[in-house]
Amino acid sequence: MTEHLHGNMSSEDFRRAGHAMIDWIADYLDRDVARYPVRSQVEPGWLRPQLPASAPESGESWEAIWTDFETKILPGVTHWQSPHFYAYFPANVSYPAILGELLSAGLGVNGMLWATSPAATELETHVLDWLVDAMDLPPHFKGGGVIQDTASSASLCALLCAREQVTGYVGVRDGTGGGAPLRAYVSEHAHSSIEKAAMILGIGSSNVIAIPGDETHAMRPGALRKAIEQDLRQGLRPCFVCATIGTTSSLAMDPVDAIGKVCREHDLWLHVDAAMAGTALICPEFRAMADGLSYADSYCFNPHKWMFTNFDCDAFYVCDPSRLIRAMSIMPEYLKTADADGVINYRDWHIPLGRRFRALKLWFVLRSFGIEGIRARIREHVALAREFASWIDADDRFERCAPCDLNLVCFRMVGSDDENRRLMSSLNDAGQMYLTHTILDGRFVLRLCIGQTTTTRQHVQQAWAWIQGATGGLAD
Ligand code: PLP
Repeated sequence: MTEHLHGNMSSEDFRRAGHAMIDWIADYLDRDVARYPVRSQVEPGWLRPQLPASAPESGESWEAIWTDFETKILPGVTHWQSPHFYAYFPANVSYPAILGELLSAGLGVNGMLWATSPAATELETHVLDWLVDAMDLPPHFKGGGVIQDTASSASLCALLCAREQVTGYVGVRDGTGGGAPLRAYVSEHAHSSIEKAAMILGIGSSNVIAIPGDETHAMRPGALRKAIEQDLRQGLRPCFVCATIGTTSSLAMDPVDAIGKVCREHDLWLHVDAAMAGTALICPEFRAMADGLSYADSYCFNPHKWMFTNFDCDAFYVCDPSRLIRAMSIMPEYLKTADADGVINYRDWHIPLGRRFRALKLWFVLRSFGIEGIRARIREHVALAREFASWIDADDRFERCAPCDLNLVCFRMVGSDDENRRLMSSLNDAGQMYLTHTILDGRFVLRLCIGQTTTTRQHVQQAWAWIQGATGGLAD
């Protein structure tokens, strides 16, 4: 048998290094991840001086490459899979999803068209349909699912659809130069990706209108209606509303039902962004937060945040794929295939042409955990967050700053913003845990989000002890 070298690696070398790497990953996730500071402690500019100025002329041994990974790269890694990672929103992983990534890399498939790998397309449609049932999403999303890289891309596609719907598909042909400004509406706490999408799509960030929130930081539908009516009176062109199920700052729940009714009255595209919180819909008891989702023209959530599916994997649903395809499709000769009719060609459903076989990892997760297995972990995370919130409530050195409906606790030490900033820095600098912050009602607030695959009650108790311990000596 001829041995094909890939770079400096034979298939034997690959087997050896690959088996060792799987062992390394299992040890890392089981045990070693807890040994590193959660947030990398290196200073900016730490890595590059340690690397050669130019790429090697001759191939190097795997041993040399791996040694450099361990000594030079690993110290600059922030350990998102640490059980003490409570920052931002999680990007949790699992063994079946990691194997899905590996297999996708091994197959090296580009599923841009049905014909370029039929199973990649059909599995994707199928697992996204499974999720419609498992999460009790509106049935009109069946057959309308597509995996995007991120929620940002999904929201951009949704806003494009809205723009084209209101301009009669003139924008994609002639550009967006003419006509009265288009307007998009979001809660003041919506994710910045909507504003970025408006910048990219020629709508302009000044035409994204931030609707004020109520005392729970959720969008006020009355204020939305007023803003739309005012814009209409001024001859502007409302086209899009994004409701968020679980805002990034505080996991506030915009009232989708009331917002949906306003969208219906004015024939506006309703996109619902449930990037992190959407996973909780797998549990019937959390589904009230999605009441009114049947009004949505599009919906997205990220299995790569809280559903044990490695980054990147956003599940994006449209109720009428033809509107998405009409806004996205171009057909150069070199991409025409004989079977174009009657199959899904996902290249028309998102921005890039090429696409990885991401459905594999989602399929592996759903089959390996089972819906019950995912529900059990989500319930555990929510219970832990609620318990942590109860500890905050019972300690008069702290105050809670938002409701804790799911797995995010927003809190602060009673004291100044500077004291709270110092509290967060001291915890993060110590490397034992990692928290991030937001601003709510003009005040600096700490966010503790529980969504790691391996976080247990013991970890959360330990985190609480560290937080309490760090409050001493912080007074201004
Ligand atoms: N929407 C919400 C509500 C988010 O919380 C986030 C990120 O945390 C995003 C969108 C952007 O996510 P992505 O990184 O998938 O674009």
